[in-house]
Amino acid sequence: MSEKVLEKIPGKKPRPIEGKKPAAQVLRDVVDAVYGDAWDAKQRGELVGWSSSKFPIELAKAFDLQVVYPENHAATTAAKKDGLRLCQVAEDAGYDNDICGYARISLAFALGEPTDSRKMPQPDFVLCCNNICNMMTKWYENIARIHDIPMIMIDIPYQNTIDVPEEKVDYLMGQFEYAIKELEKLTGKKFDESKFQEACDIANRTAAAWLKACSYMKYKPSPLSGFDLFNHMADIVAARCDVRAAEGFELLSEEFEQSVREGTSTWQYPEEHRILFEGIPCWPALRPLFEPLKNKGVNVTAVVYAPAFGFRYETVREMAAAYCKAPCSVCIEDGVEWRETMAKENGISGALVNFNRSCKPWSGAMPEISRRWKEDLDIPVVYFDGDQADERNFSVEQYKTRVQGLVEIMEERKQDRIAKGEEIYTNFENTKETDWSKTTI
Ligand code: SF4
Repeated sequence: MSEKVLEKIPGKKPRPIEGKKPAAQVLRDVVDAVYGDAWDAKQRGELVGWSSSKFPIELAKAFDLQVVYPENHAATTAAKKDGLRLCQVAEDAGYDNDICGYARISLAFALGEPTDSRKMPQPDFVLCCNNICNMMTKWYENIARIHDIPMIMIDIPYQNTIDVPEEKVDYLMGQFEYAIKELEKLTGKKFDESKFQEACDIANRTAAAWLKACSYMKYKPSPLSGFDLFNHMADIVAARCDVRAAEGFELLSEEFEQSVREGTSTWQYPEEHRILFEGIPCWPALRPLFEPLKNKGVNVTAVVYAPAFGFRYETVREMAAAYCKAPCSVCIEDGVEWRETMAKENGISGALVNFNRSCKPWSGAMPEISRRWKEDLDIPVVYFDGDQADERNFSVEQYKTRVQGLVEIMEERKQDRIAKGEEIYTNFENTKETDWSKTTI
């Protein structure tokens, strides 16, 4: 394989929308504002909570509660290369090295270990939902124990079928009622139906705008890289019910739309290959993850992690069903269908899977899900050992060789297809129009 490193294409750089700040800046400001609002609330003597990223936060917004997100905090801490130190602090306190890195970082922080990166107030209550994974339950119980504070739990068991059964929705509706009673006790306020409805409306607007922004990876060439979406995830996690996030994502879509018209892209390199990147990125190693791809013109145009936060619904029962659909809690058939639909719409010719040591439920499903891709999509799939937060579990050199292997296979297949006059990417349809008012992942 040629060792040639690709150069940036001159004139590719996108520009902000005339008279507006760049969307990336707007979205960074929104996250800063969410954490700033939490600090202000703390200083006023109000309650501040910690929430798991897929807790139905609309319920807490009906009580005007300020909430921050340990997963987001842990990812930021890891990206600033301070995660390993906190993981070590948690391990010294007795937490096992095999527990998810986010949990170890968060538990160390809850125990009082300061971080160099984003500061967030310590919690007065925790909101936990195990649709993410079951480890979350024990993680949040430990935080509640450390601070001697209440924990409000929504239990969403693993989903064995594609459709969410009505009995499961009933089970969740009962839990929503219980959570509301607990929140009433906690705050001394009555549940405010109109504030709840407003939070739901904003959450849906944010989700629609986010999913629309994610959808621009279907264009060839793509006006963005999947790595851009990783950078914007803090907003969809921490500010789903915040109108500023909805506006930020709408602006982001406007920018992508403009880029498609003008032929610019945040991916400023030749797009020799397009791939699906599977799993949570290794936050402390974003550059080492990106560089080998960039050098070979491999753009990431499909990621499941980002759009998985786009919850859409119209009624409370639909909201309950929507929260059942998280990557680690849906059945294999759903998992395959999500990824294969995206792979086809966004046109890919290979996949790179992060066997993420921290996230065992996700990684555990990948051998079967990726076996199905090979069968259904006829694409090469390459795996590397990584970790979203604990640098000890990621080897740059192993990663580079895996990327090189993937590029060699994709290049050979590309040349074969070109010789036969065939479409290079899997069932690529880049002109498909989607009704974003109805779409959910
Ligand atoms: S990264 Fe995986 S193991 Fe860790 S909290 Fe998220 S879903 Fe759970």
